[in-house]
Amino acid sequence: PLFTDLGLGEKLLQGIHEAGYVHPTPIQHQAIPYVLMGRDVLGCAQTGTGKTASFTLPMMEILAGSRAKARMPRSLILEPTRELALQVAENFVKYGKHLNLNHALLIGGESMDEQKAALESGVDVLIATPGRLLDLFDRGRILLADCKILVIDEADRMLDMGFIPDVERIVSLLPQMRQTLFFSATMAPEIRKLADAFLSNPKQITV
Ligand code: AMP
Repeated sequence: PLFTDLGLGEKLLQGIHEAGYVHPTPIQHQAIPYVLMGRDVLGCAQTGTGKTASFTLPMMEILAGSRAKARMPRSLILEPTRELALQVAENFVKYGKHLNLNHALLIGGESMDEQKAALESGVDVLIATPGRLLDLFDRGRILLADCKILVIDEADRMLDMGFIPDVERIVSLLPQMRQTLFFSATMAPEIRKLADAFLSNPKQITV
């Protein structure tokens, strides 16, 4: 399979080409068309499989062409650690050179003033760890009414780190009409239960 067969637009394909990618990995090949269709996805995949691009690329395609309002992010990617959040943000820089999309990182250990300023300027893709997101939400800096795409990445690590109550609260703050993408390396019963609660008729993909 080729990236050009997945339904992604020219500007994004140019960014992918410049990143040096020719062939989509199995999770990319399987997930991207469904995400573009608007389907929920339940992905069982480890790091190293190309999982990150399987959600960042179609999200960028969906979001390209319109812009976020101040304090109203249009999508949210939840990551369990700051390192993972930073890696996801690098994806947006790498693939998005020819798109006009804003992303912001809300992670601990970084200046909150800069994060507040980023939110104020309008964010298409918010990449966050749960604690910092809720902190800024509770300070009135984030409105989630426009946030129609949610990614929960590394759900099994969220569980191990005790973040599930925070994740549940965040999901309860989002619009009910939304697209949700849920990834985990394992599908233990507890993870499966969460997926059932957060997803609606998901396309299940295992690599
Ligand atoms: P991930 O599983 O998302 O952490 O990605 C693992 C590594 O594979 C990262 O360094 C990516 O930049 C790289 N990668 C992802 N997709 C592709 C692809 N289609 N072709 C080549 N490298 C890729």
